[in-house]
Amino acid sequence: KEELNIIQGALELRTKNVEVVHTPLADCYMLSSDAVLDFCTMSDVMQSGFTRIPVYENDRSNIVDILFVKDLAFVDPDDCTPLKTITQFYKHPMHCVFSDTKLDVMLEEFKRGKSHLAIVHRVNSEGEGDPFYEVLGIVTLEDVIEEIIKSEIVDE
Ligand code: ADP
Repeated sequence: KEELNIIQGALELRTKNVEVVHTPLADCYMLSSDAVLDFCTMSDVMQSGFTRIPVYENDRSNIVDILFVKDLAFVDPDDCTPLKTITQFYKHPMHCVFSDTKLDVMLEEFKRGKSHLAIVHRVNSEGEGDPFYEVLGIVTLEDVIEEIIKSEIVDE
């Protein structure tokens, strides 16, 4: 029964897109690029439990960097280091995908790529103005795998 589910999940990767499994921007734990890595911010990051944290500038839809929690290993909260110092040092590449990317393609990209997190965006051509890129949220390898095994992976 479980095997059948997994086979079905794997077959459906070709028909479903990342929009179905992404985590919406409103639910993303993020940091503002002008944040200071004091004790308060660092313990908040630790408590969030996430491994990768998008960093935005001015507006939450304007993601400019990704902070990996492991980047904080050498940061002393007493130094009140600006977050920018860390993100500019590590400069993790950001990976963007369109919301209509199929999950099998996404899985291949995750397998190939360095990061297992991608920013999901789409071209918004609704309304009067010019079309623009609209960020919808994030997708990770875990979101794709959950779709294959068809069940939630409970985080540690
Ligand atoms: P982590 O390693 O941080 O637990 P995973 O890649 O295992 O993250 O993803 C677990 C779930 O959490 C996925 O649904 C993913 O979309 C979501 N997720 C990952 N990072 C964040 C974040 N910074 N804010 C909100 N949700 C996130």
